[in-house]
Amino acid sequence: MVRRGEQAVSNRPTFDLSPPTPLQFDTLAAGLTADERQVLLDHGTESPFCGVLLSEKRAGVYCCRLCGLPLFLAGNKFDSRTGWPSFTTPFDEKHLAYVRDSSYGMVRTEIRCVRCGSHQGHVFDDGPPPTHQRYCINSVSLQFVASTDPLPDKLDRGAPEGAVWNLFA
Ligand SMILES: [Zn+2]
Repeated sequence: MVRRGEQAVSNRPTFDLSPPTPLQFDTLAAGLTADERQVLLDHGTESPFCGVLLSEKRAGVYCCRLCGLPLFLAGNKFDSRTGWPSFTTPFDEKHLAYVRDSSYGMVRTEIRCVRCGSHQGHVFDDGPPPTHQRYCINSVSLQFVASTDPLPDKLDRGAPEGAVWNLFA
């Protein structure tokens, strides 16, 4: 694994990154749709321009669809014209695992949720300033949470999960 991208903002609360128990994982996986399962667990890619989050512009945070860990902030989303939700920087780089992916005859860097290991997408070096990173993520891998709504707490970890947390004050 390699680390890359911007340093995390220091005033964000700490999340419990210990993995779900096998029972928690299986329970959450059983609640996925076939499309979500194919991307998150089988490392598939959704078709471009079909994701429901592509046009989402509200303030908020994008969390892992499987375990609920915050992965990206709405303020770091940009229109990459690729057909997938794209971000310039992660919520916290400790929340992502970066894995070399040499499938399909290309060398890419795969992005996974560090807590549950689910597939999110890939990161490329052709993004806009200031990071020049393009985190290209599947809509079905993410759950959007508006800034006025509580964060998910799918693993019963407690606050800051499960709490309304104004990231944007
Ligand atoms: Zn996760």
